[in-house]
Amino acid sequence: MRKALFYCIRAFGAWQTAGAIDPLPVLVLQYRTHKRIVGGALFVWMVIMRHECRHLNPYNLTFEELRTLLAEWGEPAYRARQVWQWLYRHLVDDADAMTNLPKTLRGRLTETFAFGVLTPVTELQSTDGHTRKWLLRLPDGEHIEAVLMEYDTRNTACISVQVGCAYACAFCATGQMGLMRHLTAGEIVAQIVHIERVLRAAGERPADGGHALTNIVFMGMGEPLSNYRETLKAIRILNHRDGLSFGARRMTLSTVGLVPAIRRLAEEPFQVNLAVSLHAPRDDLRTALLPINAQYPIADLMEAVRAYIHTTHRRVTFEYAMIDGINDDVALAHDLGRLLQGMLAHVNLIPLNAVPGSLWQGSPREQVRAFAQVLQETYNVPVTVRVRRGIDIAAGCGQLYAQVERRGRSIVPLDAYPTHAEAARTAARQHSS
Ligand code: SAH
Repeated sequence: MRKALFYCIRAFGAWQTAGAIDPLPVLVLQYRTHKRIVGGALFVWMVIMRHECRHLNPYNLTFEELRTLLAEWGEPAYRARQVWQWLYRHLVDDADAMTNLPKTLRGRLTETFAFGVLTPVTELQSTDGHTRKWLLRLPDGEHIEAVLMEYDTRNTACISVQVGCAYACAFCATGQMGLMRHLTAGEIVAQIVHIERVLRAAGERPADGGHALTNIVFMGMGEPLSNYRETLKAIRILNHRDGLSFGARRMTLSTVGLVPAIRRLAEEPFQVNLAVSLHAPRDDLRTALLPINAQYPIADLMEAVRAYIHTTHRRVTFEYAMIDGINDDVALAHDLGRLLQGMLAHVNLIPLNAVPGSLWQGSPREQVRAFAQVLQETYNVPVTVRVRRGIDIAAGCGQLYAQVERRGRSIVPLDAYPTHAEAARTAARQHSS
């Protein structure tokens, strides 16, 4: 009997939390006519909510929210700092390990929070040993990817902000999946906690700032500026001085070019870096590669970026995935140079990570060099060429997910998208002729 009730409650709770219907307004409307039934239903609903809320994600709370919660529990003010330090300095995954807390509080934390937010499903390591990538399962069964890139002096985490992505960029594996859902701030932060734990387990000691990771790039699955609120909340949590204390300047948000959100970001107090996925200097080609360009064309995007630079005085990075025969003609380098000349900006050339099923390949090294040379020497635009990392473990955005995640949502090869692929080829042919 108890078991049956438990399953009923779980099913009802899952249905409710899935947002199928919010029963509260329905119940309130019926109250006058069906007091008993409604009273009973409200009771059941409260039991369900209690059950559902039992295991919150602890990484979802800002420091202030944690302080308020503990104050509501009647705990002295200094407890918040203690718990925060256990979470983000010591990275414990169990309230019982928080040894300077009273047993009753540890019990209440265990009852309230689920510390294992992410379950690693697959871990891959590149043959050069410098890149590691995880497919991580979320509590609702969805999957995301996170990558760690270890350089000589830097450990960079590349993390996801959404399950899938809505923007359908033609060369991007995540873009072919569509958007499943946003991640919560806690699910974003949990990726960093996971990677930081991995580094420490490998013997890396935190620097003064409290973390062994040195950089975070929001360049995994999804679009940070479309999950604006949760991404910024995650940044606030990572940034808090009593926790990981991650400097905003060490974090980079990459956007497909959402103009209103770029303008909004310029007004934020954080000093985070902004990277803009440009990938083409002309509208027809850019729209073929990044369909969002039809809504926010290059002129609007550049105006927003100039305003961002004017307000923040921060250098912006333009990302340019170099696709062989599509957007790597030196004529386009001249267009790009004219577009960016004199801006507080630099270009990051990224030879395309070929996505399985696509005919598109990364540009050859000489082509990348010729393209960079035009930008640097003719237009004085600073350029870096991103080292290709983790090619053998499909470290490109969304690729591991595409290999592992099937569940009926098969990944369509890029060239099955005739509108994208053909339009890009046509645009490229026009430029070179
Ligand atoms: N939505 C954000 C961040 C996610 S992807 C954005 O569009 O910027 C991070 C970067 O990787 C973007 O510049 C994206 O265009 C690029 N990218 C995606 N797939 C790629 C691939 N197969 N090869 C090279 N770069 C890729």
